[in-house]
Amino acid sequence: MPTLNEIRSTFLNYFAKNGHEVVPSSPLVPRNDPTLMFTNSGMVQFKNLFTGVETRDYKRATTAQKCVRAGGKHNDLDNVGYTARHHTFFEMLGNFSFGDYFKKEAIPFAWELITKDFGIDKSRLLTTVYHTDDEAFEIWKKVGVPEDRIIRIATSDNFWQMGPTGPCGPCTEIFYDHGEHIWGGPPGSPDEDGDRFIEIWNIVFMQNEQFEDGSMRELDMQSIDTGMGLERIGALLQESHDNYDTDLFKALIEASAHVTNVDPYGDQNVHHRVIADHLRSTSFLIADGVMPSNDGRGYVLRRIMRRAMRHAHLLGAKDPVMHRLVPALVQQMGAQYPELGQAQALIEETLLLEETRFKQTLDRGLKLLDDELAALPEDAPLPGEAAFKLYDTYGFPLDLTQDALREKGRVVDTEGFDAAMAEQKAKARAAWAGSGEAADLAVWFDVLDVAGATDFLGYDTEKAEGQI
Ligand code: ATP
Ligand code: MG
Ligand code: MG
Ligand code: MG
Repeated sequence: MPTLNEIRSTFLNYFAKNGHEVVPSSPLVPRNDPTLMFTNSGMVQFKNLFTGVETRDYKRATTAQKCVRAGGKHNDLDNVGYTARHHTFFEMLGNFSFGDYFKKEAIPFAWELITKDFGIDKSRLLTTVYHTDDEAFEIWKKVGVPEDRIIRIATSDNFWQMGPTGPCGPCTEIFYDHGEHIWGGPPGSPDEDGDRFIEIWNIVFMQNEQFEDGSMRELDMQSIDTGMGLERIGALLQESHDNYDTDLFKALIEASAHVTNVDPYGDQNVHHRVIADHLRSTSFLIADGVMPSNDGRGYVLRRIMRRAMRHAHLLGAKDPVMHRLVPALVQQMGAQYPELGQAQALIEETLLLEETRFKQTLDRGLKLLDDELAALPEDAPLPGEAAFKLYDTYGFPLDLTQDALREKGRVVDTEGFDAAMAEQKAKARAAWAGSGEAADLAVWFDVLDVAGATDFLGYDTEKAEGQI
């Protein structure tokens, strides 16, 4: 069975052979793009090529792109540990045409690669097209997909957008049916969130540009943007429906089992999965220059780190463990991504410092949470003030508290949380105003509201969709 590293190479070589330039992954922090929190797909670095603002000496490209989906428009943080196919960090394999080939070539390229080079059983595959896209429907028929396995979808699932603005277009997706033994329904059905039918490849027909005011224009040239999750195709080629069963994830899960001394595949497996996933996003974000902080990108990083640390705590880890997992990650991915090895010491130090600090309040915070819950009726939501106290005093990001409660089938009163947050802000304002320099400080606070630079503004800033 091919390893993830081998599958990545097969993909890139296939498109290189077909006239594509192999372009390195761009960093996770998009350059000059304040509308986007993290690079969340392969097309991000090519945005200006699709709109025609920029041209290069190639019209076809292929990449393995580092992606993080843990904030903004595409956010899969809450899926991790609950689905077999989502990560916060993953690699997106893609091929791109900038005003060169379009639908007629893109669909056969994808079909040939997965059915011939990868040898996937055709009878297990189905595809979706945007409901009005007869052309894509016909091309799928022509390559040999039976009509009843080409599903027309009218929702945004088949209209791809990177974020609130930018190039976008209708798309077609390729799904693999893992079989009846796994729960889930075909795309477009009420059970589509299950893991039976897994989307492996998304092919976008880039023909529009979306603007901030909601309007859209037709692009002058027609382009192709595709994305296939390496971990998903990897699971398939390693005969599993579960990304966490791939060679790379097994190595990370075993490392987590080793440092916590807890069986990797027993009933605690979910904690190992979350740790393995969050180790990757955390390490790659730090390697790309993000540091944990209380606002913007840094706060998303901190949230991911602390979530992982809570799961390590649930595995009984007394001492910090996350930093001890970094060598296993570097061993798995360092050859493809040298920045990981270069930043290894920084990643380890940052994890150790953050985990040491968070451990000082984690135990007490979790105890407070248990006490609060014990004092409440069975399914009452956790009061907003309690969640706010956990946030403010114990350093629990709201989503960490929600994650902890989800295991118990409980929720947070988020309105109450927001109210407590607003109240604290107002108090802080009043306290400053009382210091005698009210006029100047009012301006200063307005600036902070926009820029978001203090502890208590952190959560607010982060909540703004796709913005920092
Ligand atoms: P899903 O519907 O399964 O959430 P998606 O439609 O949101 O996937 P796209 O935006 O189309 O995903 O991204 C292109 C490809 O990247 C997907 O077909 C999938 O193979 C992969 N992918 C997307 N999100 C993730 C994730 N969170 N973890 C791992 N792979 C992903
Ligand atoms: Mg998704
Ligand atoms: Mg989808
Ligand atoms: Mg998709």
